[in-house]
Amino acid sequence: MNATPYAAATDVGQVRANNEDSFLVTDTLWVVADGMGGHAGGEIASRLAVAAVAAQLQHGPVNADTIAQAFAAAHAAVRDAADGELAGMGTTLVLACRVADGEMLLGNVGDSRAYLLADGGLAQITTDDNQAEVLLARGEITAEQARVHPGQFLLTASLGGWIPTAPPPAVHTVPAHAGRLLLCSDGLNSELTDEEIAEALASGEPEQVAQLLVDSAVRAGGRDNVTVVVVDL
Ligand code: CA
Repeated sequence: MNATPYAAATDVGQVRANNEDSFLVTDTLWVVADGMGGHAGGEIASRLAVAAVAAQLQHGPVNADTIAQAFAAAHAAVRDAADGELAGMGTTLVLACRVADGEMLLGNVGDSRAYLLADGGLAQITTDDNQAEVLLARGEITAEQARVHPGQFLLTASLGGWIPTAPPPAVHTVPAHAGRLLLCSDGLNSELTDEEIAEALASGEPEQVAQLLVDSAVRAGGRDNVTVVVVDL
């Protein structure tokens, strides 16, 4: 029997009381969302957003337009539920969806990331929607400074939150059979370097690798919830 070509793992970490991350793995759609908000807001926001994109993308055509519609539906679902104590709750979301010819389409809003491991090298596919990236793009700080800059905690786009307009997702295409895909919440990349992530990601089957990545981030400090999804293309 072939090994399962995808796997997920999550952990609350060493500091947080709740795990506000949500994820979904199916044969064609993979999602990680990292919620934020008071009370149960973060958990609810990430769960609602994952359910909304799944409802849109698991049936019917997948292309850049339907991915944008799925993100808009997720934004609306979180906003609609954001009453009372849940006001202002929001979430990041990164997804990968297999399209007809095996190609992958990726979409993201916020700072949950997609990486591709191919030919032994790790490439970050997504760009974080945060203030550190804005400063980096303007040339005001270096990539090294961006890694530790407090602006990395200030999101410039999220689903839900206080802004009524749905932020358009950045959409990327990954060719079929390109390698191994990693989706993660920032609890992974805030604890581990790209080199550490690359080494762990290359070390075994998806299930072992997913657990190793999460365990490594928790051991390195676990200051945030950490969630990973690993998919072999
Ligand atoms: Ca987080």
